[in-house]
Amino acid sequence: MRSREELVKVLGAPLGDLATDEALFAGAAEVRDRTVGRRVYLRGLIELSNRCRKNCLYCGIRSGNGRAERYELTDGEVLEAARGAWRAGYGSVVIQAGERTDGAFVERVERLVEEIGRMSEGKLGITLSLGEQTAEVYRRWYRAGAHRYLLRIEASSPVLYGRLHPADHRYERRVACLEALRETGYQVGTGVMIGLPFQRVEDLADDLLFFRRMDIDMCGMGPYIEHPQTPLAGVRSEFTREERLQLALRMIALLRLEMPDINIAATTALHALHPRGRELGVAAGANILMPNVTPEVVRGNYRLYEGKPAEDTDLSGFRTVPDGAWGDAPHYASRREAAKSEE
Ligand code: SAH
Ligand code: SF4
Repeated sequence: MRSREELVKVLGAPLGDLATDEALFAGAAEVRDRTVGRRVYLRGLIELSNRCRKNCLYCGIRSGNGRAERYELTDGEVLEAARGAWRAGYGSVVIQAGERTDGAFVERVERLVEEIGRMSEGKLGITLSLGEQTAEVYRRWYRAGAHRYLLRIEASSPVLYGRLHPADHRYERRVACLEALRETGYQVGTGVMIGLPFQRVEDLADDLLFFRRMDIDMCGMGPYIEHPQTPLAGVRSEFTREERLQLALRMIALLRLEMPDINIAATTALHALHPRGRELGVAAGANILMPNVTPEVVRGNYRLYEGKPAEDTDLSGFRTVPDGAWGDAPHYASRREAAKSEE
């Protein structure tokens, strides 16, 4: 395990030339091959809706953005997208949306999860990424058949978190949600944005330590990319876009070295900054891809940031096997075993 100082040293090395990080990336890819394997697992991403009750200062679909055209997929569209992913041999789907907590939404998600389960005879893995909910709601969705949950902490420093969110968004609540998810039995994923305004490499080192402390099963992190219709767009980041890409790759590699048996995604935001961004993510130690399977007609409206690629299903550059395998992180099974033997 690396100390904070060692992490800061790697992250803080001069940026500009990806070739200088070659040994770091190759070492991480080698650790990945030996632990979770060489294979890249696929999750079909379904962007259910861009309606959101929250107002995160960086996000293009925040409630305060009156210019975002709002949409909601129909049940039929969601099931069709899931069926498409299933037929293509993807092991899982991820249902993601802006945050909503009303009863109608909770029930709808529950029903959709059950229906996807029925449609695939329980064989298609179901991940949810639907923000902060009560422990009871997390339990309901788990009982319906969801088994993984992604909830990024966004920035593990409470101070930085505070600068990126309005005052009524609570850091402590987000951490409590991650704990509730773990208690419910989910495989828990979190992550951060990289290259945010006010963020320093020390914060990124602390993010890695946070992931370790939270003993997470999965991680999705990517570069921060400005969205012009957000308050944060006018605030300068210390890092250029190229530098954010490189930093994100360093973060992936370091996390793989620190937590070898978890699942790490090569995210869409990498792709938004570089045509081969996801390939670079895999070369730096990632093992998960989340191709978008949302119906094309609404795809442009789920715009979290500027320049989000609409087309990302070309998987020819990856070692994938479309056989429907779930590809759970070995970390989940081993932490559950360890918890059992302590009882
Ligand atoms: N509402 C849910 C899920 C949808 S948002 C949630 O917030 O958890 C999914 C992710 O998009 C967020 O976790 C955030 O990390 C990322 N995101 C939002 N705005 C972004 C931006 N401008 N640049 C990069 N990533 C962004
Ligand atoms: Fe809503 Fe998630 Fe965007 Fe925040 S990051 S505004 S919760 S969709």
